[in-house]
Amino acid sequence: MTIAPLDVPVHPPHDLSVLNWTHRLSHLGPDFFTPLQPTPLAAPTWAARNEALRTELGWPAALFDETHLQALGGNALMAGSMPLATVYSGHQFGQWAGQLGDGRAIWLGEAQSDHGPQEIQLKGAGRTPYSRGGDGRAVLRSSIREYLCSEAMHGLGIPTTRALSLVASPEPVRRETLETAAVVARVAPSFLRFGHFEHFSAQGDTNKLRTLADHVIAHHLPECRERAAQWQGNVYAALLDEVQERTAKLLAQWQAVGFCHGVMNTDNMSVLGLTIDYGPFQFMDGFDPAHICNHSDYQGRYAYGRQPNVAYWNLYCLAQALAPLIDDHDMTLQVLEVYKTLFPRCLGDAMRAKLGLVGDLAPESEREADWTLVEDVMQHMAAEKVDFTVFWRQLSQAVSLQSKNATLTDAGWRSVTDLVLDRPRLQAWLARYGERAGQGSFAAMGQQMLRTNPKFVLRNHLAEIAIRQAQLGDFSEIEVLHNLLKSPFDEHTGFEAYADLPPDWAGQLEISCSS
Ligand code: AMP
Ligand code: MG
Repeated sequence: MTIAPLDVPVHPPHDLSVLNWTHRLSHLGPDFFTPLQPTPLAAPTWAARNEALRTELGWPAALFDETHLQALGGNALMAGSMPLATVYSGHQFGQWAGQLGDGRAIWLGEAQSDHGPQEIQLKGAGRTPYSRGGDGRAVLRSSIREYLCSEAMHGLGIPTTRALSLVASPEPVRRETLETAAVVARVAPSFLRFGHFEHFSAQGDTNKLRTLADHVIAHHLPECRERAAQWQGNVYAALLDEVQERTAKLLAQWQAVGFCHGVMNTDNMSVLGLTIDYGPFQFMDGFDPAHICNHSDYQGRYAYGRQPNVAYWNLYCLAQALAPLIDDHDMTLQVLEVYKTLFPRCLGDAMRAKLGLVGDLAPESEREADWTLVEDVMQHMAAEKVDFTVFWRQLSQAVSLQSKNATLTDAGWRSVTDLVLDRPRLQAWLARYGERAGQGSFAAMGQQMLRTNPKFVLRNHLAEIAIRQAQLGDFSEIEVLHNLLKSPFDEHTGFEAYADLPPDWAGQLEISCSS
């Protein structure tokens, strides 16, 4: 028996757990969190269990048995876990929001895994001292979206928090309508956010700020020590640099798959450069740089095309928070400057890869010419709102089908030109692209493109179908989608409908912050 009932002390004996726990975060001390227990959840049932992740982490099958259903739903404590909620602050929609914190995510501890210690959080596990007016719960609808999108991002090779399990309950939760509760067990090496640093900086508490920074460097980003050599030995400048680099790379990956996060507040920005806090996110259907996926974002602050600049703005907030540690104004600004060249370079590389034009050592002139090629086709896509995912996949398919040692032909491009109204414009672009691609190696190039441009992304309407079925008690569609999305570059014969253009009703879906 590895589970203790909730009324046991918060520190049950370690040797009874199927997971081996460490508690490095709790060593930070009580100013960083509040110990507390999850609120019991009525009549929990498994809605999804991520066997792939469990196996990847080397965690035992018992983690998904009926006893652990109680633990991962918040009704019992796994022996050795030490539940707590952390405090952070942050900027929301461009304004300082003051103290926030884990309002409904309860941290169980760090469990050893085959990929190093992993923090486990139960999202939706009840009120905490940081819940403000909230009920501490998450609804099934948003929990399904988080579960599936975490795994979809991982399948795409994009850094993200992961989802281990989804536990559903008939417990009512009031949002715009009455919905039901669910708990996602999510996993990451660390859930620390920019907002954790902002919190202690805003309090003027440089000692705690340093404790937090030293914790991150020691346990999560030890490479900062080496990187400090680039910054006159200043390890905190190196920390900012490491975070800006990870953020630049992450944003390039988001943009390259048409992912909109929806709520890029500084409390939703991971210090490890992970995609975190899945709310009103969307994979774009028709390409539109001004696309706003969050119906609560009236100004379009977090529109798709603005995400890279918002990330920079958020890094600026992080830099201000770290300023007392870096203690060198000019150096802090210099670190931030790096983003301005690094992000475009990462995006350029990501978009060149989508075109099958790889090679990190490409000369600058070639990169510039390739970027013009990218911009020109994106302008055309935007003008006609061409479906982002379908376009790149069709292009990859068309390239891969060109016969060896042949030049690309108009007939071979038919499936791509069929996607637009202004065919001569796209044909002219394809001719330029064909010329740039050269001759002879299209099959290999196409294969590489098919590993870069996914066939399957979690479109809103696909998530919505799984949600509607789950709300009626049938969780099978979650499993179907998870299977497709964990290998989104594979063909998955028989599941073509999941790669189709969205149905008309998808345009009416309104996804807000409500979760
Ligand atoms: P979000 O915009 O989802 O990142 O949430 C912003 C803040 O509100 C975070 O501190 C969350 O923990 C908190 N929060 C969101 N929803 C709830 C809820 N239902 N109950 C308690 N706190 C919540
Ligand atoms: Mg959040």
